[in-house]
Amino acid sequence: MPSRPVITITVWLGAIPALAIVALLVSGVVHPRLGVIGLIGTALWSAGAGLILARDLAAFRRSIEDASLDQLHFITPGLNTLALNAIRAITVERDKLNRLVPAAAANQALLDRLPDALFRLDREGGARRVVWQNPSAEGAFGADAQALLRHPGLRAAIVEAEMAEQPVRVSIGLAAPVPRDLDAVLIRAADGPGAPLFLLLSDRTRERGLDRMRQDFVANASHELRTPLTSLIGFIETLRGPAAGDAEASQQFLGIMAEQADRMQRIIADLLSLSRIEMMEHQPPEQRVSIARVLKEVAGFMAPLLDRQETRLELALLDGLPDLRGDAGQLTQVFTNLLDNAIKYGKRGGTVKIETTLTPTEQLPLPGILIDVIDDGLGIAREHIPRLTERFYRVDKGRSRTVGGTGLGLAIVKHAVSRHRGRFMIESSENIGTKCRVWLPLAPEAEKGLTDTQMMVTRKG
Ligand code: ADP
Repeated sequence: MPSRPVITITVWLGAIPALAIVALLVSGVVHPRLGVIGLIGTALWSAGAGLILARDLAAFRRSIEDASLDQLHFITPGLNTLALNAIRAITVERDKLNRLVPAAAANQALLDRLPDALFRLDREGGARRVVWQNPSAEGAFGADAQALLRHPGLRAAIVEAEMAEQPVRVSIGLAAPVPRDLDAVLIRAADGPGAPLFLLLSDRTRERGLDRMRQDFVANASHELRTPLTSLIGFIETLRGPAAGDAEASQQFLGIMAEQADRMQRIIADLLSLSRIEMMEHQPPEQRVSIARVLKEVAGFMAPLLDRQETRLELALLDGLPDLRGDAGQLTQVFTNLLDNAIKYGKRGGTVKIETTLTPTEQLPLPGILIDVIDDGLGIAREHIPRLTERFYRVDKGRSRTVGGTGLGLAIVKHAVSRHRGRFMIESSENIGTKCRVWLPLAPEAEKGLTDTQMMVTRKG
C-alpha cells in the first residue's frame, strides 16, 4: 500500500501531463492508442518518481531532524547539497544554543538566588514602571515595588540614571512598614533614552545599625571617662589654687579624687575585659572547670560586700556537679558580676540565693548546668530587660554610679556566656526581685547552634 506522501507526489507529478494527454485525446490531435500509452507511461513515470522523491524527502527530513550526515545518499538531484548546507547551518546554531542554554540557566539561577532585590524598570507613558522583579525583591517589597519608586531619593536617582554613563548610586532610608536602610544602584541596560533601567537594592539595615552602635559606643565610652576625668582636673586645679595649703580640704578632695580615679580604672578594666572576651568569642574554651569551685570562690571574695549590705547569701549547690569545658577566669567574672549586681541592686538586709539545676529540662533540652542568681530587690521593669546587656545601658544611671557600676557588667556576662555556647536569661518582677540565669552546656563544641544569649521576662503578680 503506497504511503500518503507517495500518492500525493505521484498525483502532483502526473496530473498536468495526464491532463494534457487527455486534452489532446479529446481534441483528436493524438491517436487514442497513443494517448492511452502516453497516459500509462505518465502514470508509471510519476509513480516511480513519486516513490523516489517521497523516500528522499523522508530521508532528508530525518537528516535535518537528526542533523546527521549519515543518510545523504539522495537520488533526487540537488538534494544532497541542500541537505548538506542545511545541516551545516543547523549544527552551527545548535552549538550556539548549547553554549547559550546553560549560560541562560545559570543567569536565571543567579537572578533567582541573588540575595539583593533586583527590578527592571521600563519607561511606559513617560514614567518608569516595574515590569519585572527577582524573588528577593518579591519577598522584600511584594506589591509595594511600584510605591518604592515614589521615594524622593530614588526618583532623583532615576532621573540622573536616564542620562548617566555610569551606574548611579544612592542610599535611602525607608520608614514603613519596618525601618530599613538601603543602598540603591541604577544601571542602564543600553544606550539611548528609554532603555530599560535595572534597580539593585541591598539591605544595609544591619550594617548601619552596627555602625550606629559602634559610634554610640565610642561616644558613651568617652562620656563615661570624661565625667570622672573632668572632676579630677577640677580638683587638681582647686588643690593647686584656692585650696593650696588647706590640709583638711586637701584630704577631702584627695578622697574624692581617689574615688573618681578608681571609677575610671574600673571602666577601663571592664572595657578591656569585654574586648578580650569578644576577640575570643568564636573560640570555645578548653579548660575543665568545676563550676561549684568557681561559685564558692566568688561567694568567698564577695563576703565584704555582703557584710556591708547586710545581705545573706544562700549557696544551694547540687552535690557532685560535673565539670564542664570552660574558661575559669571568665566564669569567675560572670558570677562576680551577677552576684555583685544582686547585692548592689538587691534589698539591704535581704537574701541572695545561688541555685544550680542539671539539664536537660523542659525549657533547656540539652545536657548542661543551669545556675540561678536570685535576689529579692526592686526588680527591673519589663521594657528595660531586652536592653540590659547593651554596653552602658542602665535602668537608673544615678543609682548605678552611686553603687560603683560601670554599665558593662551584663555585657561582659552576655559575651562570656556566648563564648561558652551557653544561654543568659533574665527574669524579673518589679518589687519582687530578679533571677539571672546562666546555662552552660557540658560539651560546648556540640552547642554551636546556641550561641545567642536569650532574654526572657516573666511577670509574677
Ligand atoms: P552596672 O555596672 O551599672 O551594674 P550592669 O551591666 O551590671 O551595669 O547592669 C546594667 C543595669 O541593669 C544596671 O545599671 C541596673 O540598672 C540593672 N540591673 C542589673 N542587675 C540587676 C538586679 N539584680 N536587680 C535590678 N537591676 C539590675
